[in-house]
Amino acid sequence: MAFEGLTGRLQSVFSKLRGKGKVSEDDVNEAMREVRLALLEADVNFKVVKDFVAKVKEKSIGKEVMDSFTPGMVIIDIVNKELTELMGGTQAKLAKANKPPTVIMMAGLQGAGKTTTSGKLAKLLQKGNHRPLLVAGDIYRPAAIKQLEVLGEQIKVPVFSLGDKVSPVEIAKQGLQHAKDNNLDYVIIDTAGRLHVDEELMEELKQIHATVKPDEVLLVVDAMTGQDAVNVADSFNKQLELSGVVLTKLDGDTRGGAALSVKAVTGCPIKFAALGEKIDALEPFHPERMASRILG
Ligand code: GDP
Repeated sequence: MAFEGLTGRLQSVFSKLRGKGKVSEDDVNEAMREVRLALLEADVNFKVVKDFVAKVKEKSIGKEVMDSFTPGMVIIDIVNKELTELMGGTQAKLAKANKPPTVIMMAGLQGAGKTTTSGKLAKLLQKGNHRPLLVAGDIYRPAAIKQLEVLGEQIKVPVFSLGDKVSPVEIAKQGLQHAKDNNLDYVIIDTAGRLHVDEELMEELKQIHATVKPDEVLLVVDAMTGQDAVNVADSFNKQLELSGVVLTKLDGDTRGGAALSVKAVTGCPIKFAALGEKIDALEPFHPERMASRILG
């Protein structure tokens, strides 16, 4: 993750503020104008930026902050807190079924990193002493089943597959039964992606959803696509009721627009961040840590 542009811009705004003994309302307005531009340049959703700046202004302009000993620092702290809030406030944890197995359905467009993320998530669960099962439900992309099998072999996690001639709904159903029969406590269902959000895809996902009743529906989106990722999340969420988002390719995202907008736009928390192609490059998403990283 390297939101250099945004971090650099914010740092220069704040170093100006920090250098002042007294901060006037004009100073705050000027700083917020620059913060607004920096966020827009980082491809943060327009409305999200507007609300964010209004909130920070409201909290910063007032006797208490302006008269404090270090007004610049207090304002930076306000920005830090609001950035954290923007990304969900606290860490959103993975749901857990009352009675195992916990069923996690993965969704997303083709190329977003769904299959890779399924493997990474299995590895993360395994590290936490769980026994996950990967279910190969993406029967349309020719290499997806094989890709999941290779990942499974690499991390020694079983992969349930019925090839590409059986419907994904049936695969998901039998996969779930397989997990129950073998005392596995997490089921990660890789589903098919498409190039765009389309009705056929949504219908299939809804059917899988109705059949396995997942505890988690995680949408995998490519952070490098910025506002497109946010729009994709918004359309999926309207049809599927997502329980969380996984942001992939944050290692190549130089701007940060998706990370900063997706929760505010969709109401859906970011649960994981993927920062590379390697199998262990997935981590739980911590809004407060991300805010601190952004502020540099
Ligand atoms: P799917 O079509 O959604 O299942 O996508 P894949 O899992 O096949 O991933 C598409 C490509 O993105 C692959 O080349 C992955 O190695 C790559 N990829 C996935 N996640 C990340 C990530 O976090 N960072 C980087 N740099 N590449 C990723």
